[in-house]
Amino acid sequence: MDIPQERKVVTEIPGPRSRELFERRKTAVPQGVANLHPIVTARASGAIVEDVDGNRYIDLATGISVLNVGHTAPEVVKAAQAQLELETHTCFHVTANEPYIALAERLNALAPGDFAKKTMFVNSGAEAVENAIKIARHATKRPAVVTFDHAFHGRTLLAMSLTAKVMPYKQGFGPFAPEIYRLPFAYPYRWPSGPERCAQEALAYAKDEMHKHIGEENIAAVIVEPIQGEGGFIVPAPGFLKGLAEFCAEHGIVFIADEIQSGMGRAGRWFAIEDEGVVPDMVTTAKSLGGGLPISAVTGRAELMDSVHVGGLGGTYGGNPVAAAAALAVLDKIEREDLLASARRVGEIVAERFGEMQARHAVIGDVRGRGAMWALELVADRATKEPLAAETMSAISRAALERGVIVITAGTYGNVIRLLPPINIDEALLGEGLAVLDEAISAVTG
Ligand SMILES: *Cc1c(COP(=O)(O)O)cnc(C)c1O
Repeated sequence: MDIPQERKVVTEIPGPRSRELFERRKTAVPQGVANLHPIVTARASGAIVEDVDGNRYIDLATGISVLNVGHTAPEVVKAAQAQLELETHTCFHVTANEPYIALAERLNALAPGDFAKKTMFVNSGAEAVENAIKIARHATKRPAVVTFDHAFHGRTLLAMSLTAKVMPYKQGFGPFAPEIYRLPFAYPYRWPSGPERCAQEALAYAKDEMHKHIGEENIAAVIVEPIQGEGGFIVPAPGFLKGLAEFCAEHGIVFIADEIQSGMGRAGRWFAIEDEGVVPDMVTTAKSLGGGLPISAVTGRAELMDSVHVGGLGGTYGGNPVAAAAALAVLDKIEREDLLASARRVGEIVAERFGEMQARHAVIGDVRGRGAMWALELVADRATKEPLAAETMSAISRAALERGVIVITAGTYGNVIRLLPPINIDEALLGEGLAVLDEAISAVTG
């Protein structure tokens, strides 16, 4: 679907057709399944989403980083269509299919680490996380799993238990899975003794906790997002992840990098962990892997992956051939068009603009990110770092929407605006989107 790559607001936002569908939605769909924006989309291509009223938006959210290569990329659509006509499903456990095997080979080659790797597929990020933990526990014969403040790993029971934020993800959904231990994350902006001491102090505390209160020999895995996503695009203080990985290696603990949001080129590399000088034992991928089709993966050291008995892993739809064919096309496109370099270029443009905005807007407390994964942390007061009120945050994203730009928020305190544009977005369109965001912040905060 080819849509002109331009922002165009033709009705009030939301328009009449969106409002009408939202009335039906209210009756038919539970409120627990939230909508961040009150519009209904009809079609999308590249960096533009068109709603049912004909309004066109610059998409700086891409369905939470699912469209790193852009909406309905022609190569991805074509690959899925071709596979759709061959076969849609036979279940890998019944009869295998080639896209599954080929995609596993590709991810094994792409994931960091100069050792034999294997990959299994499931359908969602949460499911990949669940399987990574299952495998780590089986391989180590240990129960405990270490996770962090501000972490997001999904919404199923185990993944939700690993996730940090109570409201809205956990409130009322307990009891949670046992043997999960949460440690402070090296969050430079909010580290009590300042960013310079953050990595060293966070690491010392983490090691001490793992030794004193959990016991290294009880820990199956440490799971961590190399750049935290839902938690607010927190880039850990340099050296924190490396120190953790070294501790894991020393004690036979499986180090799992959850790259579901930060991977597939988002942070300027195939995997964000590559910039940390860390080779994880396992990585989880999802989101942009399938270019919009649901597929997720666990890639890990062959001996860990093979520690599980025959039949212990899988699922009916895991590695569906249509989704796997789309994923192969996504990987081809990133490689052929050198989109990792594009992601880094997007990052340079955003970083420059954000830095300049921080000088003008008192509400911008912190600017951070890497590659095409940048965020603004907004505060009511720079000295106390008190988070900007939730209503002000929604007013800003609403003001951007009304001007034809889709942005989303994040963060434990809900006070972070995160940008997840296609990593191949046209520079002029990106500049226009950033100018609108700038204007939206001015319009709301004065
Ligand atoms: C989105 C996300 C998940 C969960 O993925 P789902 O497909 O929504 O289950 C897990 N981990 C991270 C880091 C994510 O960003």
